[in-house]
Amino acid sequence: MAESCAARNAFWRHFTTVFHLTPFVFPLKLSTTMEKVRRTLIAGNWKMNKTAAEAEELTRGILAEIGKVTDVNVVICPPFTALERVSKVLGNSTIQLGAQNMHFEPSGAFTGEISAEMLRNSFCKFVILGHSERRAYFKESDELINKKVLSALHNKIKPILCVGETLEEREKGKMLSVIKKQVLGGLAEVSKEVAEEVVVAYEPVWAIGTGKTATPEMAQEVHGAIRKMLAQLFGPVSEKIRILYGGSMKPENAKELLAQPDIDGGLIGGAALKASSFAELVKIALAQ
Ligand code: PEP
Repeated sequence: MAESCAARNAFWRHFTTVFHLTPFVFPLKLSTTMEKVRRTLIAGNWKMNKTAAEAEELTRGILAEIGKVTDVNVVICPPFTALERVSKVLGNSTIQLGAQNMHFEPSGAFTGEISAEMLRNSFCKFVILGHSERRAYFKESDELINKKVLSALHNKIKPILCVGETLEEREKGKMLSVIKKQVLGGLAEVSKEVAEEVVVAYEPVWAIGTGKTATPEMAQEVHGAIRKMLAQLFGPVSEKIRILYGGSMKPENAKELLAQPDIDGGLIGGAALKASSFAELVKIALAQ
């Protein structure tokens, strides 16, 4: 790779200023062949943390550090109870709002559930679906997750579909078959026309919240395999689908992970709960 995206942007901003041209910014991650491909996405999954007041404070901290970033997509996913307050604080900033789950039905007698329309009304642009904690603790199946993915897309909310193997599955050599089942099951009946809206997050279960991270090579191996699965499903559109890595991504290991050709960003748990570490991750992504 000849030069970083940041350096290219700086050059073009200077060039266009000198020659009074309309500034043109390269917003997308470039492949080694220098074609524009995918914009890096850093998403924070706050899980069941932060009251509405605490969420507001964290959001203000994040805004102060990276509220104007455009070359990387930044998404924060607070708990449902903080969505409205956080969306007001975000205002017109470039940071987007996401939710951590939803029901697939539009409305009705589903006590305790939240629909895609409700999320859209709370200004959510993304929703995390099929997180391993939901698969493990709430027994969510690929079939159920698929219904949620289809409902999110129908409501113009980008689904972040989480997939990943347990340590036992990896050790038994079942890693790719488990992930294939989750990818094909989760994305069944998604049409090529909307496939670009999908985000996939590879989150090895053994790396979530444990401090253990997949090495960049381990992660790239799976991301490359997921890209091939997406190509089988959607053809060339698969090149536009972002595949995030999740599992103890933090400022200390992000640079090497994000440098991998098929790692298009991160889904961040623990490190998203502090404005400084989350902002640091976004700045590392910007410098790629
Ligand atoms: C997650 O649960 O989505 C996650 C990636 O968590 P952590 O970064 O804490 O491992």
